[in-house]
Amino acid sequence: MNIAKIDPIAIIGAGAFGLSTAHELSNKGYTNITIFEKDEQIPSRWSAANDLNKIMRAEYEDDFYTNLAVEATHAWQTPLFTPYFHRVGYLNCVSGAAPQKAADTMRTFQAAAERHPEIKPFLHPISSPEDVRNIAGAWQFTGELPGWKGYFCKYDGYVHSANALRGIYREASKNGVRFFLGRHAGAVEKIVYEGTGKSRKSVGVETKAGSFHAAKLVIVTVGAAAHKIVPEIGTEVSAKSWSVAHVRLTDDETAALRGIPVTYARDLGFFFEPDPKTNLLKLCPMGGGYINTNPATGVSEAPEAVFQFIPKEDEKKMRELLRQTLPYLADRPLVEKFICWFADTADSDFIVDYVPDTSSSVMILSGDSGHGFKMFPIVGRWVDSLLNSADGKQSISRWRWRAPKPKAQGESFDDEVSWRIGDVRELRDIQREESAMSKL
Ligand SMILES: Cc1cc2nc3c(=O)[nH]c(=O)nc-3n(C[C@H](O)[C@H](O)[C@H](O)COP(=O)(O)OP(=O)(O)OC[C@H]3O[C@@H](n4cnc5c(N)ncnc54)[C@H](O)[C@@H]3O)c2cc1C
Repeated sequence: MNIAKIDPIAIIGAGAFGLSTAHELSNKGYTNITIFEKDEQIPSRWSAANDLNKIMRAEYEDDFYTNLAVEATHAWQTPLFTPYFHRVGYLNCVSGAAPQKAADTMRTFQAAAERHPEIKPFLHPISSPEDVRNIAGAWQFTGELPGWKGYFCKYDGYVHSANALRGIYREASKNGVRFFLGRHAGAVEKIVYEGTGKSRKSVGVETKAGSFHAAKLVIVTVGAAAHKIVPEIGTEVSAKSWSVAHVRLTDDETAALRGIPVTYARDLGFFFEPDPKTNLLKLCPMGGGYINTNPATGVSEAPEAVFQFIPKEDEKKMRELLRQTLPYLADRPLVEKFICWFADTADSDFIVDYVPDTSSSVMILSGDSGHGFKMFPIVGRWVDSLLNSADGKQSISRWRWRAPKPKAQGESFDDEVSWRIGDVRELRDIQREESAMSKL
């Protein structure tokens, strides 16, 4: 699109993709950028990135994403991002009871790390519990680690995602980006168009409070809520969720676990080094995730409410993971539990493109598929590059807009991604089952 540096740009959503975009474009000299965010605070309670930590691993099964993650790793090592990058290494294993699919996936990741000349020197095979303690440096793990095998990669680690969002929010504000926050001024109701059909063009956005803000370009970065602002995306993006929970430690317990690697048993889940400020150790279970399909449209939609609960099956996996690694924590209360929504695509490719029939006046970044935060420092570059592409088209074919394929009533979301283990389930079914169980 032919957009001048002084033209008004409206970005909807101040999560990972929106803040990165605002920061990059303001650095590139765009002077009239406004972000609309539905929460009163940044990080937003609805952002999938509002969290203590996210895995920062560079090796993907697919070299395209490995190369991007290596580029992102370099960016995390620049002064602006370094405070949030904790390069404690990544222990990627399976337990002795893992299904074959989990073991195969882990080996594909290992092979990807071996293929990359920059990552390879950091890679160490793990074939026993002793290796976990001595090679991965997790000497604090007193659990039996039954049958644990995999690899340790010191190239990787985790990033403090909530703090990174705060940091880039500050930088973007310093660069002159304007922010409208809150459920009236910041929450966007819709994109406003003039014209119809092929000549349709956006002229700005309307907030929930009914105010109109003119914009030459609207960039949609609303994560799991994509379908609300760009309903045309239909089933190409599915709101999906995973559970998150924490164990609260004492100061001494936190200090004792300083420097442990990000620890992932692909059949159970993963956890991180405890956060010294809150003494919280974050856990996520491995599973297919939960969706919330609207029966009328067949599209899984992120609920408005923030869910402060996690399914019992997930809690069981988290406790088993602790039992195998840090057994003294296995029966502790799980606190700050919630279900976190992201924007999933069937092949886990991102979508970074103009929305069709908008005369390139609306761009969407979506389909983060639960692996987008590691790219936080470089997402804005993708937007800048699309804005400057000679033919105005997305040159990366896998990131182009895809017209939603019709799905039969009740057909579930295709999931061709090997690293996801477990069935995708409707959240309402889980809630129904759990409420029936509680009445027994
Ligand atoms: C449990 C979990 C674990 C994850 N772990 C990892 C990991 O280990 N490594 C990794 O790389 N990635 C991970 N991710 C993925 C990562 O969090 C996402 O890729 C990233 O947050 C996507 O950024 P986004 O900007 O698209 O969406 P979000 O960060 O969700 O931001 C969307 C923003 O839009 C706002 N918004 C929504 N609707 C409106 C509206 N109408 N008006 C105004 N604002 C609106 C929301 O409030 C929010 O701030 C994980 C995700 C989840 C859920």
